[in-house]
Amino acid sequence: MPHYHIWTIGCQMNKADSESIAAFLEQCGYSSTSKIDNADIVVLNSCVVRQSAESKVANKIDALRRLDADKVLAVTGCIVDAKVDGLQNRFPRVDVFFGPQDVGALSAYLQGRGLVESSAATQNLISKPKVSSLVNIMHGCNNFCSYCIVPYRRGREVSRPLADIVSEVQSLAEVGTKEVVLLGQNVDSYGRGLAGSPMLADLLEELNCIDGLARIRFLTSHPKDMSEQLIAAMARLDKVCEHLSLPFQAGDDGILEAMRRGYTNEQYRHLVQRIRRSVPDVALSTDVIVGFPGESEEQYKKTCEMIEDMRFDTVHIACYSPRAGTIASRELKDDVPANEKIRRRKELEALQERIAGEINSELKGRMVEVLVEGRKKGKWWGRTRTDKLVFFTDNVDRLGKLIDVRIESASAWSLQGEIA
Ligand code: SAM
Ligand code: SF4
Repeated sequence: MPHYHIWTIGCQMNKADSESIAAFLEQCGYSSTSKIDNADIVVLNSCVVRQSAESKVANKIDALRRLDADKVLAVTGCIVDAKVDGLQNRFPRVDVFFGPQDVGALSAYLQGRGLVESSAATQNLISKPKVSSLVNIMHGCNNFCSYCIVPYRRGREVSRPLADIVSEVQSLAEVGTKEVVLLGQNVDSYGRGLAGSPMLADLLEELNCIDGLARIRFLTSHPKDMSEQLIAAMARLDKVCEHLSLPFQAGDDGILEAMRRGYTNEQYRHLVQRIRRSVPDVALSTDVIVGFPGESEEQYKKTCEMIEDMRFDTVHIACYSPRAGTIASRELKDDVPANEKIRRRKELEALQERIAGEINSELKGRMVEVLVEGRKKGKWWGRTRTDKLVFFTDNVDRLGKLIDVRIESASAWSLQGEIA
């Protein structure tokens, strides 16, 4: 049997895309291998959101320069832009570059080499069932935040028809999926451009009725687009988890404007208040960029205050990285020195570690419901509805089960518990 190997970095969306590529190759008769040397087809799924990710991708492609000539090396993800010729010159060993989600282009190339049949489906591919499955509900982004390369690489926002998503989730639930994570760059604008303009709240309502499905999550939300209907749906629908990913990016209004985020510090704070009023136990995660062009110490302190005041459960902190072609890289000077960006990032990481440790400690002695996703180093692991990672010991097979666990100890990153 021929084999494929997929290497993925980047966001959840890239992971979901890799799962679709795997589903396509499996239906073509290929099986997965963890060893590149055993693979007939190697796919690298790239991220270029920051220079550090792009460098990792370039190093990975370089390391595969001497891959046997009869093996296919394919590259996808956000490194692939419209100028494929430039990429081909930069990385001559790569056989095919194909855009994010464009499994059709991979299929066409493999057909040309006689490696797959022309009848293989390339749309609505159902990946291997997992306890928690990623489901893309939309592609692309229309926001053009000034620092971000995603809209240039993933194109304009397109929502998948609601019925297609419901049918995919039904199929996943029938084969054992207990949780779905609905993915989009800006899920709150789901439905724009679709017949009848359904909203994310409508989709949640339909998914909430699917038998066998226990939990629904969605990410990423955009503060400027979060609707009252969505907040109400979160509060009302029992399967929708109390967990939101709501990036604020910066605490200072001037920086937010330069980022083209479309909200102010005060509007973000009010939004969080409204969400917490409706969904009291909601866990919030957020993304932050430090060292955006022109960010002074005073402006950076507003980001610190936001983190201190909001008490997020998780914060992803990135140093600003200019991306060629974006508005910020064209119009603004990357003038915060690298060591200063790193200092700010480390300071915020330490602040958040303290806050997350405090929040998690409050769970000690409490019972939480854990959806068990796997086993690691002799322990079962899973997540709470609020997306907290929990480990516990048990000899019985608990995979895919909802288990009540009493929390015994907590750190900023995970919880240790005992089965109740
Ligand atoms: N769509 C989501 C949103 O609006 O927040 C996230 C998309 S982006 C792939 C994930 C995170 O990467 C962003 O939230 C931002 O914090 C970070 N990011 C994007 N571009 C960046 C850049 N040029 N430099 C540093 N961080 C960046
Ligand atoms: Fe990038 Fe902004 Fe779109 Fe998120 S919302 S993908 S940060 S442009």
